[in-house]
Amino acid sequence: MSTAPVPTAPSFVAPQHVVIVGGGVMGASTAWWLAAHHGVRVTVLERDASYARASSALSVCAIRQQFSTAINVQLSQRSLAFYRDIAQQLAVGNDRPAIGLVEPGYLYLAATSTGAEVLRAQQRLQREYTVHTAHMEPDALRARFPWLHTGDLVLGSLGVSTATSGEGWFDGYAALQAFRHAAVAAGVEFREADAVGFTRRDAHVTVVHLASGKSVTCDAVVVAAGAWSARVAEWLDVSLPVRARKRDVFAFEADVDLRHAPLVIDPSGVWFRPEVQRGRFLCGAPPRGEDTDDLPLEQVDHGLFDEVIWPVLAARVPAFDALRVTASWAGYYEMNTFDHNGLVGSLPGVSNAYTACGFSGHGLQQAPAVGRALAERIATGAYHTLDLAPLRVERVADNLPVHEANVI
Ligand SMILES: Cc1cc2nc3c(=O)[nH]c(=O)nc-3n(C[C@H](O)[C@H](O)[C@H](O)COP(=O)(O)OP(=O)(O)OC[C@H]3O[C@@H](n4cnc5c(N)ncnc54)[C@H](O)[C@@H]3O)c2cc1C
Repeated sequence: MSTAPVPTAPSFVAPQHVVIVGGGVMGASTAWWLAAHHGVRVTVLERDASYARASSALSVCAIRQQFSTAINVQLSQRSLAFYRDIAQQLAVGNDRPAIGLVEPGYLYLAATSTGAEVLRAQQRLQREYTVHTAHMEPDALRARFPWLHTGDLVLGSLGVSTATSGEGWFDGYAALQAFRHAAVAAGVEFREADAVGFTRRDAHVTVVHLASGKSVTCDAVVVAAGAWSARVAEWLDVSLPVRARKRDVFAFEADVDLRHAPLVIDPSGVWFRPEVQRGRFLCGAPPRGEDTDDLPLEQVDHGLFDEVIWPVLAARVPAFDALRVTASWAGYYEMNTFDHNGLVGSLPGVSNAYTACGFSGHGLQQAPAVGRALAERIATGAYHTLDLAPLRVERVADNLPVHEANVI
């Protein structure tokens, strides 16, 4: 990525000190871009330095290009380029971060002619954004993936945008720590502190209040509080449609070597992917029943695995018939209930408040490009490298949803 300085919009007064509420991957990325590329003083308030409940630490960390909207494709393509080069981008002295990015692809499966037509329509659209997919009928799928049961399938769509596919997964916690480490090296202060409110002068935020009773003055604030962003924005009388929606992940072992297999998305919505070690896998599925807000993360729905996921896995990959669940966890999708896409930009009605939230399960893969563009917007008054206007918060009030067909 080019890092040439970007011009400042006329009559724009750049903030001297930006306070970011939330030090997950969105907050850390934005902080690094602001400090390292625009020379802005940044304080990040993160209430839990262990990130025990942060989505960035509980994610499955996959990255793909098979989206159906230009903005999501562009964010993922630019972020992929960054992640491929992260050792260089976020090097601090001789410390070059490694995030274990692998790119075996995503394989979307369709079991009906309607499902296949959806994949074909998306392929036509994706070509316009230079996302290339190989569409395979059952014979071709069987030849390429002999371990896959294809009897009920009509079509599969595999990402093949580059020699190394352009789709895969990485260590998201390592990426978060790399941003954080580089941000600190660029002068960002990370404070373990719980933000509890703001003081405003007219439409301008001047102070962030902390649970400790202390406060921090600021010229601008960024709400990057993940699944808790709506609560923080409420202090500014801004209503964000972002809710904490629990997603369960299961790790299992099976005696089969599929280390180079793609992330498979079954027509049922069940997904699985291999881990680096032979015979180890992760899997998940959308929740059973109502998608309730704020369910406790401690309560993994084991019935979801037994009753929904396992039957699908065993049918799709006969070698999964004898598998053993070895671990499970839950994390919150920071779900944008309006249209399941990121909300980025200024908060309506507040002259110096911004947000990056609501990514609904695809935030880790978009964090580098979102942080870069948002930092430009904050530091210069305009987007330069990528126009994130399609993700503006105002689209909710304007009832102009981003129609993304590929939300997992
Ligand atoms: C199970 C699961 C699987 C996922 N899989 C993928 C995937 O495959 N690919 C992908 O791209 N994305 C995936 N995601 C989504 C991705 O993890 C998120 O989009 C991303 O991590 C969001 O980052 P964030 O920084 O906005 O939020 P978080 O990482 O949650 O960070 C927000 C931080 O704000 C802090 N905070 C909140 N309120 C306050 C306050 N008042 N004061 C101070 N600090 C505060 C919290 O402590 C938290 O650390 C997945 C998520 C889950 C849960």
